[in-house]
Amino acid sequence: MTPLAERIHKLRTRIGKACEAHGRDAGRVELLPVSKRQPLALIQEAAALGFGRFGENYVQEGVQKALEAPSLGFVLIGPLQRNKARHALASFQEIMTVDRPELAERLRHLAAELEVVRGVWIQVDLWDEATKQGGCTASGAEAVFRALDSDPRLPVQGFMAIPPPEDAQAFQAMAVLREDWQQRLGRPLRLSMGMSGDLEEAIAAGSDQVRIGTAFFGSR
Ligand SMILES: *Cc1c(COP(=O)(O)O)cnc(C)c1O
Repeated sequence: MTPLAERIHKLRTRIGKACEAHGRDAGRVELLPVSKRQPLALIQEAAALGFGRFGENYVQEGVQKALEAPSLGFVLIGPLQRNKARHALASFQEIMTVDRPELAERLRHLAAELEVVRGVWIQVDLWDEATKQGGCTASGAEAVFRALDSDPRLPVQGFMAIPPPEDAQAFQAMAVLREDWQQRLGRPLRLSMGMSGDLEEAIAAGSDQVRIGTAFFGSR
């Protein structure tokens, strides 16, 4: 086994154990590799092992990789400035960091202009960390939903978050938020949370997608 295949195997085992411990179906937890600052050759190696979509943090880097490897899919998991929204929408399959109504409005305008359909995720930060990582409050999420106005070009997939590590309550708060909105909208929504260090807590709280960088690709 290559080092990459070995790391993926270990990850699958971790995910499997966490699912088993919490009565969840491992087939329902997506492993999204985070390829920021990783070379294209390694990403291609992961693609050969069956991974078709990768998370990127920086618009410029992701746009470049998407150009160089058009057969791969990239999703944006890092902060998005309005002036980069056009590039982002053109190159990424999904935007996972919609966290303010102005950005949502800009994306709607551009999606219509470019005639594209892109899944979007609302990034929330319920912990008042005021980090540079982005994310809106629960009421902010409401404003983003309103701004998106169920635009068929930007279907909302669910919520994305970076809860503080080892804070089980923070992960639970995400589950509650998701449940509330599922009730309101009458349809399922996904939760994207959990990284290399905390995927177990995330899966325990119902995460549907873990975003894994270092445990997948190695250090960067
Ligand atoms: C870098 C990053 C990840 C992956 O982090 P690791 O700790 O390397 O697994 C996941 N989500 C976001 C938003 C990131 O920026």
